[in-house]
Amino acid sequence: MWLPCLHTRNCKHVICLDNFHTGRRANIEQLTSQPNFQVVEHDIVDPLDIAVDRIFNLACPASPIKYQSDPVRTLKTSIVGTLNLLELAQRTGARILQASTSEIYGDPIVHPQKESYWGNVNPIGPRSCYDEGKRAAETLCFDFHRQHQVDVRVVRIFNTYGPRMQPDDGRVVSAFIDQALRGVALTIFGEGHQTRSFCFVDDLVDGMVAMMNQDDYIGPLNLGNPQELSIRELAEKIIEFTGSSSGIIFKSLPADDPTRRRPDITLAREILGFAPKTPLSDGLAKTVPYFRGLLESS
Ligand code: UDP
Repeated sequence: MWLPCLHTRNCKHVICLDNFHTGRRANIEQLTSQPNFQVVEHDIVDPLDIAVDRIFNLACPASPIKYQSDPVRTLKTSIVGTLNLLELAQRTGARILQASTSEIYGDPIVHPQKESYWGNVNPIGPRSCYDEGKRAAETLCFDFHRQHQVDVRVVRIFNTYGPRMQPDDGRVVSAFIDQALRGVALTIFGEGHQTRSFCFVDDLVDGMVAMMNQDDYIGPLNLGNPQELSIRELAEKIIEFTGSSSGIIFKSLPADDPTRRRPDITLAREILGFAPKTPLSDGLAKTVPYFRGLLESS
């Protein structure tokens, strides 16, 4: 695929590349009328030639039910897709930021997780297509940097939430808000003792942009909000926040579900001055109305 050069280095022109496998056009509706925003339907598993000076690679479904529904495709997206984008960065001299993930730590034995921890990942389980794909993508980034001097940045993103998530994507914040608003029972997998640390999307985006714009550190760098809570606490918080009459039901815990997760963001603080500003209650106040709007219009 080839696209004409639509920008110069001084002009901010954004090309949004998506295969719309899990993304929705409605999510970018407010941007499509902007003259400097272009949408191209493309799957990065297929090579591409395009004039760019910055690449943010966020391609890959992130919800376990979505990435496990076609695991081979998930691996291809992270490995072949990232390879294609690194080759594009090599040809164009673009800087490329890879959205890696806390999943590369697997079910962590070290807590909280620092970037120096190598992780505890099952290479053959149902989550492996995502975890190992993202691990291999990191390896590709660092090898392209060492071997071809490609200007890479690698961030490891911890659980993130906010408006425009899909109510049926199976992830815990979207699932619980949707269930609470519909007045049906919230589905906790396992006993709900497992923990996660949730970062509001705007804080994450600030961190990603800051990482892209600095010249000193290529990564890997944790980005997330270290406010950790159990899934049971999250369920109770969402029920209370929405004023829902929903109860809670318990379902079996999926294989290899990480027991606990919390980012150590010391490095992000030092290098980027990164400090998530949005506590969970404020983030829910910005997210719940979006889900309410979806329900009202359905
Ligand atoms: N989870 C849950 N109920 C749901 C969806 C998820 O209890 O309806 C649990 C899931 O088992 C995991 C945690 O919530 O322990 C976070 O799940 P999610 O899929 O959002 O993120 P990930 O496991 O990839 O961190």
